[in-house]
Amino acid sequence: MFDKVLIANRGEIALRIQRACKELGIATVAVHSTADADAMHVRLADESVCIGPPAAAESYLNIPRLLSACEITGADAVHPGYGFLSENARFAEILEEHQITFIGPTSEHIQVMGDKIEAKETAKKLGIPVVPGSDGAVTSEPEAMKVAKAMGFPVLIKATAGGGGRGMKVAHTAADLGLALSTARAEAKAAFGNDAVYMEKYLTKPRHIEIQVFGDGQGNAIHLGERDCSLQRRHQKIWEEAPSPALNAEAQKEIGDTVAEAMRELNYRGAGTVEFLYEDGEFFFIEMNTRLQVEHPVTEAITGIDLVLEQIRVASGAQLVHRQSDITFSGHAIECRINAENPRTFRPSPGQITYWHPPGGLGVRVDSGVYQGYRIPPYYDSLIGKLIVHGKTRNECLMRLRRALSEFVIDGIETTIPLFNDLILQPDIVNGLYDIHWLEKYLAKS
Ligand code: ADP
Repeated sequence: MFDKVLIANRGEIALRIQRACKELGIATVAVHSTADADAMHVRLADESVCIGPPAAAESYLNIPRLLSACEITGADAVHPGYGFLSENARFAEILEEHQITFIGPTSEHIQVMGDKIEAKETAKKLGIPVVPGSDGAVTSEPEAMKVAKAMGFPVLIKATAGGGGRGMKVAHTAADLGLALSTARAEAKAAFGNDAVYMEKYLTKPRHIEIQVFGDGQGNAIHLGERDCSLQRRHQKIWEEAPSPALNAEAQKEIGDTVAEAMRELNYRGAGTVEFLYEDGEFFFIEMNTRLQVEHPVTEAITGIDLVLEQIRVASGAQLVHRQSDITFSGHAIECRINAENPRTFRPSPGQITYWHPPGGLGVRVDSGVYQGYRIPPYYDSLIGKLIVHGKTRNECLMRLRRALSEFVIDGIETTIPLFNDLILQPDIVNGLYDIHWLEKYLAKS
């Protein structure tokens, strides 16, 4: 087992990882930018190192500085969290070259899944159904038109290097195609430094259902069920739940077993998420994330398995302790992302938290990195916390969520809490009848 883990992240996920390390008796190193000197992840770590100015490129994304921090502190492993360098194959490779363990999959697996075209081809070869689309990248408008006409409109242009819903544009008709193609490419170039794009059939009423997988790189891999992340704004998740209200046990088992088998074939190591769109009883692979997800606590709530602790164990060379037959699902869990944002426009709302009172009680978990008096810096993601609620049934979970939201008080900034207070009153949400377009439509009409 490791002696000291450096956590190359900030906010709630840095604290989440520290907690798992503490339970395993591993010392923790926090890294931070000058803007985060007062952050909770710095205060609670055993040691901390300032790695640069506020801009992420000069701190949390700066590989030489992170390596220096490992060297200064003698850390023998790095946990990247999510975002930042968590899916950077080069980072994983460089760490291994320095005999520091990257807590995650092999750099090869990160690379394959990081290129969405290659990921889809790999999925297809492994027997996973994929969204119909172009064979590889699309480089010109005439080529795009040919693919679109063969598939039928609407179509979606997507960035090969995509992430966070960026570089994605819909063309509803042939007249929209040229503009969709050029704006998707420009956005992809600006966000990822790579303007390669591909095309997919644009599904009009799918749900986003993802399967949590776990492998040990020693031939063993299992699935931990699904999460339904269909409530999204601008292609970004805001509410996640498990199990999905749209799946029965048979469909759940079938897709779970298919994906687990594929992971065994890949000899995948660590936690991963295989994302699908689900429409009319069919699953269509869209991408795989080779890291811990923001919404992992939903799976922890219904399986009782600490995913971060397992990531650390497996990275240290241990085999999976769980077999598929050991995994049981208990009750229902929902996560609400508490963002420092206007609840209607989603405009970021950084600033000082003047009052902070998180909810508690049976079945309620709050993962957060903020505190009363904390000043949220304007430089990073607006997620300030996650409220995760667990109940025996979906109804009990919703009742508990309503109660927990009513206890949550955050003053001084705007947050997404009022949006969740509205959502839990909507019949479609109560009945679990929503697809990936539901929230945008609801926001447009209310
Ligand atoms: P990113 O990596 O940017 O998050 P994804 O491929 O995971 O991109 O897609 C993000 C979201 O965009 C999905 O959850 C879904 O809401 C929407 N989306 C992606 N592909 C399609 C598609 N073919 N049809 C309709 N919506 C899609």
